[in-house]
Amino acid sequence: MAVGGKDNLVGIDLGTTFSVIAQLDSKANATTIPNKDGDPLTASAIYLDGDTAVVGKAAKQAAAVDAGKVAQFVKRDMGQPVYSRRVAGRLFRPETLSAIILRKLKQDAERRIGPISKAVITVPAFFDDTRRKATEDAGRIAGLDVIDIINEPTAAALAYAIEGQRSGSGPAAALDVPGGSLTALVYDLGGGTFDVTVVRLAAKRFETLATDGAVQLGGKDWDEKIVQYVAEEFRRRHGIDPLADEQRRDALAALAERSKILLSDLPQTPIECFHQEHALNLVLTREQFEELSRELVAQTQIVSELVVQQAKLNWGQIDRVLLVGGSTRMPMIKEMLGRVAGKEADDGLDADQVVARGAALHAGIVAAKGRESDLALDESGADDLKDVVVLNVNAHSLGVEALKGDRYVNAVLIPKNTQLPYAASRVFHLTQAGATRVRVKVLEGESPVAADNIQIGECLVSQLPPRLPAGSPVQVRLSYGENGRISVVALDMTGGAFAHAEIQREYGLTDDDIEREAEFVNRLKIR
Ligand code: AMP
Repeated sequence: MAVGGKDNLVGIDLGTTFSVIAQLDSKANATTIPNKDGDPLTASAIYLDGDTAVVGKAAKQAAAVDAGKVAQFVKRDMGQPVYSRRVAGRLFRPETLSAIILRKLKQDAERRIGPISKAVITVPAFFDDTRRKATEDAGRIAGLDVIDIINEPTAAALAYAIEGQRSGSGPAAALDVPGGSLTALVYDLGGGTFDVTVVRLAAKRFETLATDGAVQLGGKDWDEKIVQYVAEEFRRRHGIDPLADEQRRDALAALAERSKILLSDLPQTPIECFHQEHALNLVLTREQFEELSRELVAQTQIVSELVVQQAKLNWGQIDRVLLVGGSTRMPMIKEMLGRVAGKEADDGLDADQVVARGAALHAGIVAAKGRESDLALDESGADDLKDVVVLNVNAHSLGVEALKGDRYVNAVLIPKNTQLPYAASRVFHLTQAGATRVRVKVLEGESPVAADNIQIGECLVSQLPPRLPAGSPVQVRLSYGENGRISVVALDMTGGAFAHAEIQREYGLTDDDIEREAEFVNRLKIR
């Protein structure tokens, strides 16, 4: 229950395939809150029909019979202007669909613990600023006060270390002794995203050393390998393509996921596929499945090795390999990590729920630092968390577009894997006398060619003093906040005054858009 009428603190893991909400009690213990069906995992699937939205397992199952009304894997489209397909005949913003999932989590949790307004939501470490902003906006549309965004691997590491110290057993218990520290690699393979992060953990200090990943790689790609294999066999035997029919494709994808999960425990599983009065029966072995997905595993191995290098370490210096995300239950993942790391990966972490618990702990850290003093933590709970330091790095380099010779290049101001918060400046010169504004294109990414990076938006410096001569210097300072969000300030170096500066995002939502979408979501009956 909310303590003394104060709002509950929650952490939310808004996942590609599942979402989880966790609460922090007044003693700063994090626990997941089951949905109304008693399940701590809510499928991130939405079935829309008129003014009703069904969120969860039932919506996921509805995809097999009524695909046109179902939205799934919305997280993969975060940062895009629209969700990849029509739902119930309409185009939606990914933020709005995510907000419906968040509303469902909030609504179910409130039935158990009372009012919630403040939340920390997690994002993959690899999410760029556009996707982070989209996640924050989804929270606002859902009526949540998003007090922070935190990286999923950081959340997992927080829960691992804090809960480990409190329990007094396992490797993390050793952090409780003075000077105790350990270096961990968090390998996070969820339903639709993948990242690897190296963290150094001490009693009250959590430092990310390096991070990398892919936003378009996850369990869904393993499902797709089975889908393609079955479809190929079907075509070979019956000469028709079951994937030509969208409904059949969705049903096959669901079947593939079930088979994949079975193959984590069993050596083989039967697969039956029906299409246009033809049937295909086959047996898929784990060995075959591992062969089909060999290059996906290899991809994650390359990223893992790269991140260890970027942290300026070797595998011998990694004390623990922590597994996060449902897809790490596939034996091929543990096998690969055991081989390259030279030690067995730690799977005792409750891969599905640890991120939400870490997010709730982080909400407590924010609250205990007094930034959110009206929140529900008693003195002992607050004491435990108030001097915890969480240090992050940026997953993408931040730069601006610059003209070099006749080519537009990416002039990097803040290289990737820099410890946050961090700011860097660059001086620009007015090309036109009397100009009162300067436009600067802000880029996130690693390519030296400007066009090959993500354009976050344009930084508009305006209201410069009148009558500045051509060539007048204007300093633009870009900064990454602790949560990976970008902000900007500008200084007119002639007069020494701060100029008005803001980042205008091409597809980002404005406050008015958020209000309009919130009205829509509020009118829905969510079940
Ligand atoms: P997450 O978003 O972290 O909950 O991960 C969800 C992904 O994990 C989905 O792609 C699931 O199919 C996958 N998953 C869950 N359990 C298993 C399992 N036992 N074996 C293989 N994959 C699994």
